[in-house]
Amino acid sequence: MNLLVTGAAGFIGSAFLRKALRKKDKVVILDKLTYAGHMANVEELVDNSNCIFVKGCITDQKLTESLLKEHQIDYLVNFAAESHVDNSIHSPGEFIKTNILGTFALLEAARGYWNQLTGPEAVIKKNNFRFLHVSTDEVYGTLGETGKFNEELPYRPNSPYSASKAGSDHLVRAWHHTYKLPTVTTNCSNNYGPRQYPEKLIPTMITNALGGKHLPVYGNGKNIRDWIHVEDHAHGVYLALTQGVPGETYCFGGNSERTNLEVVNSICAILDDIKPRADRQSYSSQIKFVEDRAGHDWRYAIDDTKAQRELGFARTYHQFEVGLRATVEWYLANGEWIQKVKAPR
Ligand code: NAD
Repeated sequence: MNLLVTGAAGFIGSAFLRKALRKKDKVVILDKLTYAGHMANVEELVDNSNCIFVKGCITDQKLTESLLKEHQIDYLVNFAAESHVDNSIHSPGEFIKTNILGTFALLEAARGYWNQLTGPEAVIKKNNFRFLHVSTDEVYGTLGETGKFNEELPYRPNSPYSASKAGSDHLVRAWHHTYKLPTVTTNCSNNYGPRQYPEKLIPTMITNALGGKHLPVYGNGKNIRDWIHVEDHAHGVYLALTQGVPGETYCFGGNSERTNLEVVNSICAILDDIKPRADRQSYSSQIKFVEDRAGHDWRYAIDDTKAQRELGFARTYHQFEVGLRATVEWYLANGEWIQKVKAPR
């Protein structure tokens, strides 16, 4: 299949790209290379035949239209987004532009291309076309001590980030309902694994620990997140793309709820084991509780029974601590990657 994958120079998009290329798909990447996207995530894969890189912004409807036509795209997969909640609190404007207006421009480009598909195989091509939109469980708001999010729940986003993702999800839903564009939306919990930009919790803690800096933990550290390995998420997105039903949404989770403090303590314990500090003190002595994030959601958890039942989704990382150890090892082995992505551009 011919894929147009936006945001593939980022964390999850680049994991999905690896999966699609293993499946022998042809992929055109459309990425703006913001601070969070980097050629270091994809350059070994770009060969200008099966994997083509195009630098551009998803708000540029004409560019997307020309890529869809030129490469006769079967599947458009949208990972491109501003993705960091903290940034959305102090600078929400970029989130509205990329996440809402960008998704709108992609939908309009796809609608025009899809409507104009002609020729003897047009009916098949139109039926097979997919617009897959990657979203987050944060659109559902926050949970108390019990319960889990699922596809039937109403949207209650609380942060500018989750509100912008919710807005984009609603556009995708409407473009299916109104124009019959074959869209699929996925909503996933917190991802971890290689190549996550060192602003999110896990890579921040690893890089700060190694750099002898404080490990900042919001509030009392008891907020709970569900963690899924990025390769399991990429697998889920691929299943939703190839087997999902147009108009449907699918939730993916990791079945690994942990408090933020538990995650940080686990990272410290792994580092104490494989790269002990020179003074033999635990890295946990670097933990510092800081003022809580504004509007900090309390708990996220996902019930992904629908994806298991309808797509045959299954995780390969069953034990969060096993995946976390492999992730810490990846960051230890890839100091050059950390320097590259953090270098001023
Ligand atoms: P990321 O920040 O690592 O990567 C985002 C990518 O999008 C980067 O390569 C960036 O350059 C690109 N991009 C940003 N704005 C763009 C624009 N206007 N035009 C073109 N490209 C642009 O993000 P991620 O963590 O890989 O998340 C990918 C998607 O998955 C996002 O839509 C996010 O909302 C969603 N998601 C993330 C998580 C998570 O835990 N990280 C969980 C669930 C869903």
